[in-house]
Amino acid sequence: MSIDKQDAGYGTPNPEKKQRTGLPLSRLRRFVLLGIIVLFILQFVRVKILVGGLTGSLAVWFVTLIDIFAYADGLVSSRDFGMTALVSVLPVALIYLVFGRAFCGWVCPMDFLYELVGRMKNRSKKSELSSQRKGNISPKIGYGLAAAFLLISGLLEVPFFTNYLSHLTNFFRLLTGGVFFGMNLPVDRSVIIFSGSIIAGLLVLEFFFPRLWCRVFCPVGKTYGLFNKISLIRLSFAEGQCGECNLCDHMCYMKVKIARHIDETGLRDINCIYCGRCIDGCSTKGKLIKMRLWR
Ligand code: SF4
Ligand code: SF4
Repeated sequence: MSIDKQDAGYGTPNPEKKQRTGLPLSRLRRFVLLGIIVLFILQFVRVKILVGGLTGSLAVWFVTLIDIFAYADGLVSSRDFGMTALVSVLPVALIYLVFGRAFCGWVCPMDFLYELVGRMKNRSKKSELSSQRKGNISPKIGYGLAAAFLLISGLLEVPFFTNYLSHLTNFFRLLTGGVFFGMNLPVDRSVIIFSGSIIAGLLVLEFFFPRLWCRVFCPVGKTYGLFNKISLIRLSFAEGQCGECNLCDHMCYMKVKIARHIDETGLRDINCIYCGRCIDGCSTKGKLIKMRLWR
């Protein structure tokens, strides 16, 4: 079976072609991301449902939330084992015990920006093959990198990755700068230039090495990936439905090898971000692969 060029890489699967009923998951998750960004933007007009950013926030006026890697980063740099930060990271850990690495597919703005890069890119056969070849780096390197970032934070006594390099921190600094600019409020240009450079650097990396940052290097995503092994959510497969077209593998930009597990009851892969592209793309129109929170 030939694979549609648009479907085989980035972009939302063509819903007309798949004739699935309802909103495809690939599109639904974009509404979720947009909704979360809008809730954060509302803080600037004093509607404080979500205040802060994705590394640390105050939700619905009283629930403090800290990203798990940001918590570890703060812990090693401050050596403060106080209850405040612990209470803030526990609800987040609970969310990931249920939804695993779904943050990457449904909430992280980089996933959306990377999709735009993929759409803009001239996807010639040559560039696609070369990026696949260059992208074959062991995902285990990311754990070493995460440990190195924590070590640097401990030595400098500053949360090094979270304060300076984090895509989440820098995305929200840019977002804040953009809103302030729009509201004619003073903007620190050096912050905007620094954050813009970090985000631009990641987008350039994405252009040449699709999803290399997410699959291999991102310490935030790697941390969530560990939860995938124990979280409630998983991909489940119906028996006897597979037509062996391998569309699911081709749809997955996180390079999860779904087809080789299709005879099992389900799959919890550390790289799965529960984006649903394999479900939307499967030729059985959602009968074979499902996302489940139990069974
Ligand atoms: S791996 Fe990192 S950059 Fe990629 S989607 Fe997850 S949190 Fe975002
Ligand atoms: S296995 Fe499916 S749900 Fe998981 S990342 Fe790949 S395409 Fe998305």
